[in-house]
Amino acid sequence: MTDRLYLKDSECLECSARVLKVIRVDEGYEVVLNRSPFYPETGGQGSDRGWLDDEPVLEVRLEGDQVFHRTARPVKPGLVRCRVDGHRRMDQMQQHSGQHVLSQVFIDLLGAPTRAFHLGERSSTIDLDLQGTVSKTQDRGSWYREGRERGKELEDAQLALAEAEANDVVRQALPVRITAPTVAELAEAPDLSAIGGAHLRIVDIHGLNRSLCCGTHVRSTAEIGPIKILSFERRGSLWRVEFLCGYRSQMHYGKLHRMAQQLTRLCSAPPERLAEAVEELLALRLDGSRRLNQLRRDLADVHAELAAQRALDLGDVKLAELVTSRLSEKELRLVGERLALLHRCAFVGGIAQEGKAKTSIVLSLPAGSPLHAGQILDRILPMLGGRGGGRPELAQGGVPASSLRPAMEKIRAELARQLGQGRP
Ligand SMILES: [Zn+2]
Repeated sequence: MTDRLYLKDSECLECSARVLKVIRVDEGYEVVLNRSPFYPETGGQGSDRGWLDDEPVLEVRLEGDQVFHRTARPVKPGLVRCRVDGHRRMDQMQQHSGQHVLSQVFIDLLGAPTRAFHLGERSSTIDLDLQGTVSKTQDRGSWYREGRERGKELEDAQLALAEAEANDVVRQALPVRITAPTVAELAEAPDLSAIGGAHLRIVDIHGLNRSLCCGTHVRSTAEIGPIKILSFERRGSLWRVEFLCGYRSQMHYGKLHRMAQQLTRLCSAPPERLAEAVEELLALRLDGSRRLNQLRRDLADVHAELAAQRALDLGDVKLAELVTSRLSEKELRLVGERLALLHRCAFVGGIAQEGKAKTSIVLSLPAGSPLHAGQILDRILPMLGGRGGGRPELAQGGVPASSLRPAMEKIRAELARQLGQGRP
């Protein structure tokens, strides 16, 4: 078995230990020691990292009463020096102890017990039961709220209040004491056996709460540092609250601060006016896009007018043509639509852009035409190494740039042929 030092002392980060066995596994080696300060992943808290001599410990797990330390290479038999990564351990203790505080605050404010806790690599979550009853181990005693009516929706204002209360507990620097539960205490807590009573400790945050837990914890609530609630969402019958503590809150604040500074520069507005400045920018953009659309329509009308003046007479219908490098596909389609509507002209247009291997072709026909633009492009463009298709009145396709002129000629000939056939 492994003597688990973290159970007695969350501050213990180094020791020497005897290697009991080294096992080859898929992702390296697992080392079992006679004693270990390493916390294995359990109870919602991730495992410690660190070193066995100079060999990095990648993951730590508990099986039965043995702790398995995974390494990339095997360690030598005999004695090893164990060193836990203190920064990571402190971070985990801040998140985990902060969870105890937050969970108690939600019991105090809403009578909502925590049903699940997850300590993530970036943020942590607790799942609150707003309709639940508070168990004896979570309850402070005098205000036991079982059966009392409670609101079922979590709201922003409640979260803000909970965050403020939790940070008050931090400021009070309440001592945190960890003890092994007595037989009598274990007997009084029937929900313990389900989570493995033998590994549990009583975490006593002086004057706030006593809870049973297997994680590592700080010595005083002051060490938790700032607690920040990030978000909340409904998860089935529970409410998931995402939060950060300590260094993570500081990092988060730093990130937001840098973002605000950047936006302040970009918008030329102080942080308190950023939202207003962004709203103004969005309004300007909307106005600009409306104006641009109007100008596009006007431009399309001008192109349509000029193309109509040069249109070829195919008998029943006139055909306007345009090759341009200045218009987008959307604008070219608009020219076709305007020619059909204002001049009752068929239209074939192409975009010839220098350096581009492919080019776009648009074919449009006036409403009521017996021809089908989509079918015409679908038949002709593949002959020239391209493809196309679309509706009866408007179709689009693409061909290699060198085939633009031949494609337009083929389309013109096809229109003339079909219209010729249609004549009496
Ligand atoms: Zn805990």
